[in-house]
Amino acid sequence: MKVYLDNGATTMVDPNVAKVMQKYLTERYGNPSSIHSLGQEVNGDLEKARETIAKELNANQEEVIFTSGGTESDNLAIKGIAYNAGKGHIITTRIEHHAVLHTCKALELEGFKVTYLNVNQEGFIDLKQLEKEITKDTILVSIIHGNNEIGTIQDIKAIGELCKKKDVLFHTDAVQSFTKVPIDVKKINVDLISFSAHKIHGPKGIGGLYIKKGIKLKRLFDGGSQEFNIRPGTENIPGIMGLAEAVKQDKKLDYIKKLRDKLIKDIEKEIPKAYLNGPRENRLVNNVHFRFEGIEGESLLLHLSEEGISVSTGSACSSKSLKPSHVLLSIGLKHEQAHGSIRFTLSKFNIEKDIDYTVKMLKEKVERLRKISPLWRE
Ligand SMILES: *Cc1c(COP(=O)(O)O)cnc(C)c1O
Repeated sequence: MKVYLDNGATTMVDPNVAKVMQKYLTERYGNPSSIHSLGQEVNGDLEKARETIAKELNANQEEVIFTSGGTESDNLAIKGIAYNAGKGHIITTRIEHHAVLHTCKALELEGFKVTYLNVNQEGFIDLKQLEKEITKDTILVSIIHGNNEIGTIQDIKAIGELCKKKDVLFHTDAVQSFTKVPIDVKKINVDLISFSAHKIHGPKGIGGLYIKKGIKLKRLFDGGSQEFNIRPGTENIPGIMGLAEAVKQDKKLDYIKKLRDKLIKDIEKEIPKAYLNGPRENRLVNNVHFRFEGIEGESLLLHLSEEGISVSTGSACSSKSLKPSHVLLSIGLKHEQAHGSIRFTLSKFNIEKDIDYTVKMLKEKVERLRKISPLWRE
């Protein structure tokens, strides 16, 4: 049996999305900048796709630009604002994705000042601390919406209100929360929003950035005048059409949430000394993250993989190194606790049997690994 529970790393392309993309690879392959009819037809489709994304955020069409994915969007948002200002102070958190964290680290080396906010045990920032850290030099606050590791959903409405009151720009990395947690930019004060297609059953290598009207940022590449002169390069039309189609699909959020809650309940029932990382409320509908006492996460992952079950030990990027996840350390876990944690991320393509099989295997493997673990005491 094959069970894919690593949808936080990437997702299967929805067959409806693949079908649409195929058409833009072999039939409607024109360049939207071309004047002939094939180009202009494709240009019309591109603008329709932009409208679909804008609608999802209740934004205007001119406020959405396409990029190569979440990483580029985060870079463009943060460096774009920083370079436009020339100098200043940025506030972010200790639990950002590397696309934000390493961008901020790079800006620090260039002379920008960066403050990294602490989070509590469930991964939430403290609004009062954020307020205290904002100074007259602060140019940008960048805070992740739905955390990719432990699923914490920050209160971006409250953060947005504070940023508005203090007159600083607010960017959020919404790659994990996009289409899962609604964002209405007419009701929530957020200036820049990053999103990506491959976390929502779209293709890899395509994403976008919402940029509120009137906000100036410096573009990172030089070239043509595509994407309102902000992001040059011939548009990735199959990707863009795939992203828009992914946004249109049925999200089945209630269904996923039921599976998530069953997985949490069954693990807590079947496996002793298993502790949920991250919050119980305000958690991404598809995220389950557990710490198993006395267990080494990497061995558990490999044992599950042998049984056809795909999970992860954190973010895909950090799982290649043996450094414990910065997110797990930030919520107060000790090194061995962070190493004993596993992330399960679900999708609408999972079924109840996947959960039953996973819990059965998990129970077996955890028992076996604990028997030989030097960390485990009954
Ligand atoms: C996956 C992810 C990214 C990076 O997106 P890519 O499209 O893979 O570049 C950024 N932020 C978060 C929270 C993510 O989960």
